[in-house]
Amino acid sequence: MSMKEKTELLFKVLVIGDLGTGKTSIIKRYVRQFFSIHYRATVGADFALKILNWNDDTLIRLQLWDIAGQERFAKMTRVYYKEANGAFVVFDVTRATTYEAVEKWKSDLDSKVLLPNGSPIPAVLLANKCDLVSENLYSNTTQMNEFCAEKDFAGWFETSAKENIGIDEAATFLVKKIIETE
Ligand code: GDP
Ligand code: MG
Repeated sequence: MSMKEKTELLFKVLVIGDLGTGKTSIIKRYVRQFFSIHYRATVGADFALKILNWNDDTLIRLQLWDIAGQERFAKMTRVYYKEANGAFVVFDVTRATTYEAVEKWKSDLDSKVLLPNGSPIPAVLLANKCDLVSENLYSNTTQMNEFCAEKDFAGWFETSAKENIGIDEAATFLVKKIIETE
């Protein structure tokens, strides 16, 4: 057995988007297999920690920052964004206004945090609550890919915090993008 210690990486990931889109539920689902339909908005920014045994040599501590109650401004303070490595922008597939707000969230993000080389931090778009719709307006791949290219998202995923769909995949995808920027 090797005595070599694992490399430990710490990544700060922001989870932003309109109120009620499922940000807190997604974090809870990802960090531990738990989902409450009675979850109430928490107060103040907070983060949950997920430990990933990424590979034999690397352990990743993923901090998921929940904005918790600050959504109505569609922007956050610089402290919240400080030294963020990546972001999820979440919308609710049953509410078009939350999709329309994605652009605001993304531009607020890009105006407050950049990589050392000046480009935006990797961001992934989450089309959440896909369990609620049989015909998802936002599952058209061509259209969503175009939207992501235009708004500079690394990718998008249909997710359900309730049914545990897409969240692990989205997180793995984002972590890979973050590692590529390191
Ligand atoms: P936040 O304000 O963005 O943090 O949203 P919450 O996580 O508090 O979720 C708002 C509401 O949507 C709660 O009633 C959740 O139970 C519900 N919710 C969140 N994600 C999902 C999902 O994927 N599917 C369904 N059906 N409900 C969800
Ligand atoms: Mg919340």
